[in-house]
Amino acid sequence: MRYINGHQSRGKNRGASNGRYKGGAVYNKVHDRFMVNRGDGIFTCRARKVMEEHLGRKLERDEVVHHINGDKHDDRIENLVVMSNSEHSRLHGALRKAGETLAL
Ligand SMILES: [Zn+2]
Repeated sequence: MRYINGHQSRGKNRGASNGRYKGGAVYNKVHDRFMVNRGDGIFTCRARKVMEEHLGRKLERDEVVHHINGDKHDDRIENLVVMSNSEHSRLHGALRKAGETLAL
């Protein structure tokens, strides 16, 4: 009789991904965007973290990170721009009028 190797050990290795998930982005269905660990266990929008690292400072509360190409999952720095909350609402109002899809 032969044992089939692999099952047990594979299961053990995979289990590690559940607990401490550092560095990687986690998809948040409710907000429809990727979240990352800020470093202190609190999750924040990946776009904000990417922008904060780019600027070398924390974003203010009324600063919003807008996705230039409208793809909220595209958090590359070249697709992100910082604007104030009011500028952002105005921009999206204009985009809506133009028939563009609403994205943050
Ligand atoms: Zn936006």
